[in-house]
Amino acid sequence: MTFPIDEAVSRLEKTVAALHTPIVDLIAVQTRDPFKVLVATILSARTKDDVTAAAAGRLFAQATTPEQLARLDASAIEQLIFPVGFFRNKARHLSLLPAALAGKFEGQVPSAIDDLLTLPGVGRKTANLVRSVAFGLPAICVDTHVHRIMNIWAYVATDTPLATEMALREKLPEKYWIRINGLLVAFGQSICRPVAPHCDACPLADLCPRLGVSPRRPGRARSGTTGEMPVGNVGQLFLSWNVNGLRAALGKGLIEVLKTVNADIVALQEIKAQPEQLPEEIRNLPGYHSFWHAAEKKGYSGTAVLSRREPLRVRYGIDQPEFDREGRILTLEFSDFFFINAYFPNAQEELKRLDYKLAFDEAMLAYANRLKAEKSVVLCGDFNVAHQEIDLARPRENRGNAGFSDEERAWMDSFLAAGYLDTFRKFCPDPGQYSWWSYRANARQKNIGWRIDYFVVDEKSDARVLDAGILADIMGSDHCPVSLRFR
Ligand code: SF4
Repeated sequence: MTFPIDEAVSRLEKTVAALHTPIVDLIAVQTRDPFKVLVATILSARTKDDVTAAAAGRLFAQATTPEQLARLDASAIEQLIFPVGFFRNKARHLSLLPAALAGKFEGQVPSAIDDLLTLPGVGRKTANLVRSVAFGLPAICVDTHVHRIMNIWAYVATDTPLATEMALREKLPEKYWIRINGLLVAFGQSICRPVAPHCDACPLADLCPRLGVSPRRPGRARSGTTGEMPVGNVGQLFLSWNVNGLRAALGKGLIEVLKTVNADIVALQEIKAQPEQLPEEIRNLPGYHSFWHAAEKKGYSGTAVLSRREPLRVRYGIDQPEFDREGRILTLEFSDFFFINAYFPNAQEELKRLDYKLAFDEAMLAYANRLKAEKSVVLCGDFNVAHQEIDLARPRENRGNAGFSDEERAWMDSFLAAGYLDTFRKFCPDPGQYSWWSYRANARQKNIGWRIDYFVVDEKSDARVLDAGILADIMGSDHCPVSLRFR
């Protein structure tokens, strides 16, 4: 059956009207100035809309014409547009733009795709977007959301955005060409997300063949207490992931995952590397400030946090050398909350390290209590304990083992009783939701796992918790990431 595109677009128009408008469309509504639309489009690649909007605002306060932009050098532009993704490259391209426009187009932004493609930093997607949004001329801008969703709908069957653009030129009614990008970007950022799309709340659920899709599983990563879906760019998205060796995870596509998820803060545990052993692409991930707390022992333990916002202060450890030398705790302080990334010790076989683990647990509780007296606390990481029987697939067989010993579980009881909220359980009371699987015996395929990775907040911050999830479809480690959307 052919996908009913007219019906889908009609429903999307109504849905998207209530959602967040992509920044480039917004700038086009506010001004028909092709130069501003071009600059905003260049800034928007691989960057969240609120970050693009702020950067465009700072840049436009200094330069709204090619002549004014020509007065800024690349480093001045860098400072204005940071932290947009690839800010150095974009600053270089923007510094070259005035001369390119003056040399070939008498200082005007051209409207033809082939002309736009000659400008620095302008690829096919940007060229199509500028032609359609700034000039209102027929062009189909195919970004990752358009390419992905058109294939999910089986409206096209293509491998690349360029092939999708060509297929849509043949097939998509021209009346939708200009609008389709804005519609699908807003829809792809909010409902049909790249990771775990919200099929359960989708207005196209009865039309969509869902080709290649792993939707959110019922009972997992549910919506907030209001019953509304926390959509789009609402709140801040946090991710926590035990990567079991950062260098290995990089080889398994970690950078692509981080770009796709586009979180505001990413907490990594068990990085097993010193920062100087890591490639530039993760040490200075575009758009993020990065902080590293490696263990003294090489190739062991360690934590890292990547944050889009610059924190007020960073604390490496908790002034307890027996834990700090293993690089287990890293805290970022913001104006309205503390973000603690923690890698709790493993109690090990025959509970050989249980005493160390319990001492760490107590030290962590005391530390979190001190911080929560000041402001909100978000504590995430690999806690190395499954709290309740529903938090692991084989509770009876594992009773008394590391990670499910009575002592570790009792500490988790006392921790929550001390005024902390296990955010995932706020939304999902169901069993079968795990964040770690043994590499042995196809455990992950059979979903024989443990939920030992958490986002916890102090109880007073309950109202700031919009959503919590387990991203079980993301591979690259024996753990999967867990997430929190925080107001
Ligand atoms: S049903 Fe699911 S896959 Fe299909 S469009 Fe809606 S959210 Fe996307």
